[in-house]
Amino acid sequence: MGFRDLQAFNLAMLAKQGWRMLEEPSSLMARMYKAKYFPNGDVLGASIGSNPSYAWRSIHKSLEVLRQGTRWRVGNGKLIHIWDDKWLPTPTTYKVISPPKDFGAFPVVSSLTDEDAKTWRRDRLVEAFLPFEVTTILNIPLCHHLPEDSIIWVGNKKGIFSVKSAYYVAKKLLDSDIQGETSRGDVRAPLWKRIWQLNIPEKIRIFAWRLCMNAIPTMVNLNRRGIQVDVLCPICKMEEEAVEHVILRCELAKAVWSKWSDGPGNILESRSDISDLALKIISQGTQRDLEIFFGVAWTIWYHRNQLIFEASTTTADQVWGTATRMVEDFQIANKSCATRKEK
Ligand SMILES: [Zn+2]
Repeated sequence: MGFRDLQAFNLAMLAKQGWRMLEEPSSLMARMYKAKYFPNGDVLGASIGSNPSYAWRSIHKSLEVLRQGTRWRVGNGKLIHIWDDKWLPTPTTYKVISPPKDFGAFPVVSSLTDEDAKTWRRDRLVEAFLPFEVTTILNIPLCHHLPEDSIIWVGNKKGIFSVKSAYYVAKKLLDSDIQGETSRGDVRAPLWKRIWQLNIPEKIRIFAWRLCMNAIPTMVNLNRRGIQVDVLCPICKMEEEAVEHVILRCELAKAVWSKWSDGPGNILESRSDISDLALKIISQGTQRDLEIFFGVAWTIWYHRNQLIFEASTTTADQVWGTATRMVEDFQIANKSCATRKEK
């Protein structure tokens, strides 16, 4: 056992004390600490306080393990912040990905439910969330007597806190501290926001998001999901059809991208994956560049499907022309809408 393992084990043991305070808030220990360090909330939000005891300092250090290893279970939704808290059943972040909308001063989950009918308010969900997230939320069951929201452990499959599972959470935390890296999810967070702000048709925004999540049904992705298909690219039959291959590196794709002579990100030479490339375009280019990037990617994917399912072929010039026209037309249509509204 190395030093870091020992540290992780130590944190896990301390996290167990924090977990007990969450589970049994009326216990003597919980009430004692609560009075002093978190009078208005639960232990997860506790501050270190002034002049903390040694025991509390140690427990406080372990709270990050609890924050990482838990999420909310929705009861009446009154304690859960829609965008800041972890409350979706979707690992690994458990957080809402859809960009924040204005929900007034208290954007809590209860504002998404109908308290009398004890159901989700579909109209509000559709307004505020990306379609796949609407589905995720609608699938969260609401209990008919709307109990208080509660915290559940997600560090293992059983959903029951154990020192062993907390040890793994702690170890991961220590490892990521040492690498000095924020997690990948965090790195891509600004990307989701940017995608949602793009001035392009909604179907392309959704495609862009799925593309960056590596969630479009390429042959490689179908195979990974257990569907027996040949993973070779159906167009060139030279390489496996991964997302980057079909969108960036297959013959047709390369010919299309070569039309974008002043495009940022050096797409033709790039070996990065799609989301890294999109981040590069954000840092080196304009919003318009990102719109073109996803517009062209969508059109390449569209023509790939045309070729496979309809056996219709196309040229790089056609793809490039369709894509750029589509982005432009959408923006012109939107602009004339906006000026009409202003008058
Ligand atoms: Zn290919």
